[in-house]
Amino acid sequence: MIPGVAGKLGRFRGKILVDLKGRVAVVTGGSSGIGRATALRLAEHGARVFAGDLRPLDENREPFAARGIVQFPCDVRSEAQVQALIEQAVRDGGALHILVSNAGIDLEKQLPDVSEAEWDACLDTNLKGSFFACKHAIPHLRHAGGGAVVFTSSNAGLLPRAHDPVYCVSKAALNALAAGLALCHAPDKIRFNAVCPGPVSHTRTIDNELAKSADRRALEQRYIAASPLARALGRMITPEEVAEAILYLVSDAAALVTGTVLRIDGGKSLGVPPQMP
Ligand code: NAD
Repeated sequence: MIPGVAGKLGRFRGKILVDLKGRVAVVTGGSSGIGRATALRLAEHGARVFAGDLRPLDENREPFAARGIVQFPCDVRSEAQVQALIEQAVRDGGALHILVSNAGIDLEKQLPDVSEAEWDACLDTNLKGSFFACKHAIPHLRHAGGGAVVFTSSNAGLLPRAHDPVYCVSKAALNALAAGLALCHAPDKIRFNAVCPGPVSHTRTIDNELAKSADRRALEQRYIAASPLARALGRMITPEEVAEAILYLVSDAAALVTGTVLRIDGGKSLGVPPQMP
């Protein structure tokens, strides 16, 4: 058994089970999509989860309560609200071990059409929110003897694209923040990683785009076609698949994994895909 990992990875019929019992986690943007799936997954593996969101949803009350997940209103653009969420988690949970800084919005506009308010909304939510969360989480993670932070970034942070330059900037900066903080806080045994999903089904982001589209099926096919592996499988990535990757990154199985950006985009950000048949 690897020192430091012993006791935290159980085994069941040969399968490794991630055990997060005794761990306290904060997930921002935890009401829907990837954040919701992550809150549920971490709780299923034993973590005490505090989910903050701009809009906590009534429909989550029952499934969250069943797994001991507590929902809080929290706008990540407000330092005071982020600090309050983290302090509430530490007060009620007794410590903080895991932060999933997930809240984010998209901005599909060409730069000359972007207002200062839109730039600020995108950068404040996607980047400054993570700064606030890390700023207030790090002292508690240090106090707990170490911990894990995961940013929900995007394939847009790896391979810039033409339709959403400001969103690309926000996610590329988030990847840089993960690497920088990973270096700074390795002595504190705090790990920082980012996940970079491609288009994810059953998220408000994608559902809104599909709802607005004149041809929903055609747009869905375009999302799928943009990722070589999604195209091969004939489906989009799911929030649960991103949550599984986050679960791995916060677990002791990833004890030596820090500063990584993990693509969960079916190869979309690797380069030019093969031609469609
Ligand atoms: P989603 O809209 O379903 O979930 C985002 C959640 O964040 C919502 O519950 C929303 O209320 C919350 N939120 C928005 N602004 C907030 C704020 N200021 N403070 C607190 N909460 C706020 O979409 P999702 O796709 O699950 O988004 C999660 C993350 O995944 C985002 O960072 C997004 O950029 C990223 N992402 C999504 C996709 C995708 O295809 N859906 C792809 C790559 C990256």
